[in-house]
Amino acid sequence: MKPFTYFSPTTLSDATRVLADYGADARCLAGGTDLLIRMKRHQWLPRAVVNLKRIPWLRDVAINAELRIGALVTLQDLVRAPIIREHFPVLAYAASKMAGVQVRNLATVGGNLCNASPAADTAPPLIALNARAVVVGARGERVIPLDEFFTGVGKSALAPDEILCEILVPRDDAVRASFIKLEHREAMDISIASVAVSLRNQKSEIKNQKCEDVRIVLGAVAPVPMRARQAEEILRGKELTEERIRQAARVAAREAQPIDDVRGSAWYRREMVEVLTRRQLIAMGKNVA
Ligand SMILES: Cc1cc2nc3c(=O)[nH]c(=O)nc-3n(C[C@H](O)[C@H](O)[C@H](O)COP(=O)(O)OP(=O)(O)OC[C@H]3O[C@@H](n4cnc5c(N)ncnc54)[C@H](O)[C@@H]3O)c2cc1C
Repeated sequence: MKPFTYFSPTTLSDATRVLADYGADARCLAGGTDLLIRMKRHQWLPRAVVNLKRIPWLRDVAINAELRIGALVTLQDLVRAPIIREHFPVLAYAASKMAGVQVRNLATVGGNLCNASPAADTAPPLIALNARAVVVGARGERVIPLDEFFTGVGKSALAPDEILCEILVPRDDAVRASFIKLEHREAMDISIASVAVSLRNQKSEIKNQKCEDVRIVLGAVAPVPMRARQAEEILRGKELTEERIRQAARVAAREAQPIDDVRGSAWYRREMVEVLTRRQLIAMGKNVA
């Protein structure tokens, strides 16, 4: 590691001031499970490291009209928090499939999103739930829909002086969501492909399995976690028949933009997107019936 100046502010305004001063030469520190590895490998050589952990409210989870998840909430908090387990079980489930307990005790939701890996596992379920990111910088606060947050591999819409403070998830009892992650082994592995699906059904429509709204979000098969919008269009406002589901899954696979890498070939990933999308939609359709 190269020498750097370490800051440990207790307020957001102090933190954003340091970020504004150092610009692209500063990095925030949350759990450090991505940052410290990159620094040790000399991939990132910040001149300033800004520890966010002393800003207390960034670790809150609260629910009202919507769920608010502080950026410093750890993955293990997500697995355990009664509010999340009761109202958004898909988030607890997705977090439980990430890393192992030791890493989950350190790693934060905000760090997972800001690291902007195409395989960040919190992203697909949060995008499926229509989440928004609240970010604060030297010039004030803005809210970014999470499906616009990722701009490329390792890149996000955050300006160098901005901090992700919390994630807002709308509360809607008519929405159900699920997530599947394909990995080589059951723990400590990065997704080969993942799919999150959310379905919105009005109670009156449950009998004929009509889907009022749908989101299909693919992970690890494109430069950014992405919505399969053409596949969504096939289902939106329609009855969830098996044929329609199969068609949507085929289209989702065509929309994916996978690459070949150590974890799997582009061909395999595309095939898996179709399988994972179809399985989830069929299972969710059955639950509606
Ligand atoms: C063994 C192991 C297994 C893993 N398994 C998985 C897995 O299964 N799935 C998966 O998705 N990931 C996995 N990861 C990756 C990693 O744990 C996650 O991405 C983690 O959530 C990152 O959070 P963090 O708090 O540690 O971030 P940090 O390492 O502290 O930060 C990551 C990046 O985000 C920036 N940042 C952090 N917080 C903020 C903020 N609030 N505002 C602005 N910028 C911020 C930092 O400056 C840095 O650039 C694994 C990592 C390890 C070491």
